[in-house]
Amino acid sequence: MNNSLSYSHLVDRIKDAGVRPSNVRVHILKYLEEHSHPTAEQIYTALRETMPTLSLASVYNTATALAEAGLIRVLGMNGAGVHYDCNTHQHAHFQCELCGKIFDMDMPGIDCPGLEGFNVKKMDLRFWGVCPHCDALAQAATGLYFGESEEDEKQ
Ligand SMILES: [Zn+2]
Ligand SMILES: [Zn+2]
Repeated sequence: MNNSLSYSHLVDRIKDAGVRPSNVRVHILKYLEEHSHPTAEQIYTALRETMPTLSLASVYNTATALAEAGLIRVLGMNGAGVHYDCNTHQHAHFQCELCGKIFDMDMPGIDCPGLEGFNVKKMDLRFWGVCPHCDALAQAATGLYFGESEEDEKQ
């Protein structure tokens, strides 16, 4: 992807949302477009290399401003701090308890009894558990363990 093209596209998106496209705002939005659901600490650590004057507080403030403008979503996942998401379309999340990764899921059609008559503006659906990658690793580790114990019995 052409960097200057994507930069001007981000400047336009921020302007269209009615926010001044400061350098920090553009860089944080760019980071969010390139990385899945990072925390403020992850954004800060990555951007500090090219923006030495950046502070963690300014990452928080900028992300809050971007969220208020509707450009990103703020996700509080499992009490383990806040994650940011540049995908503002309605979608569900799965967080792996082992690797901590957050995955986007399509939002299922939900017919929720008792919601009749309520004007729903937002819905937030999250799942927690073990992702397929970590599950495969865990099963491989279990297989190794049983393999070893069989060897022990033969001896
Ligand atoms: Zn995992
Ligand atoms: Zn997401």
